[in-house]
Amino acid sequence: MSPTDHQKEKVLQAARWLSEQGYFGGKLGSGGNVSMAAAGRQAVAITPSGIAYPDMTVEDICTLDMRQKQLEGSRSPSMEAGMHIGIYRQRPEISAVVHTHQLFASVLAILSEPIPALFDEIIAEIGPCVEIIPYAVSGSRQLARNVAGKLDNGCCCYIIQNHGALSLGKDMATALKNTELLEKVSQAYYYALCSGREISRLPEDAVQHWLALRKKTP
Ligand SMILES: [Zn+2]
Repeated sequence: MSPTDHQKEKVLQAARWLSEQGYFGGKLGSGGNVSMAAAGRQAVAITPSGIAYPDMTVEDICTLDMRQKQLEGSRSPSMEAGMHIGIYRQRPEISAVVHTHQLFASVLAILSEPIPALFDEIIAEIGPCVEIIPYAVSGSRQLARNVAGKLDNGCCCYIIQNHGALSLGKDMATALKNTELLEKVSQAYYYALCSGREISRLPEDAVQHWLALRKKTP
């Protein structure tokens, strides 16, 4: 029994669900990645690279320390492990990270179109906006640096330019819920943009109301 068995199981379940729902862009591929930090940040459980999600077992999930040294698992960890660990280092309230290639967030990724304050639930759950993280090659240190450069806004979702999406949560259930919410708002915003009509945004006092409530929520 490993102290990270719980996190590894959660990571596997989340990855399988995201794959089945099409959040990785294809149901048979190995794109995207999922991780979860153990309490106290002793270790991070993360999906391996190069194995299709339907074939993945809990033994395939890797664990790394916060310096990215591999602790468990015989497979190579996701190429985006540095990006995940950087998030845990910078955002102590975050314990789960989901990186996807989901369709409508990917549309906004190639339009390089951030999502403004459009719905109450978005501000309450994700934050006042979904910013665009500038493009860098997948798995590169530059991409991890570009992500780190946006994390201080305290939001829980980001769109990576010409790449995909990033959703964070205090636990895995919240990270998955945010992934789903991001896809809903991306789809709604894209269709609204396509209409060519003026987009209605939330009034500033409503934004401030939800931000104040969000600060009070642990
Ligand atoms: Zn990716």
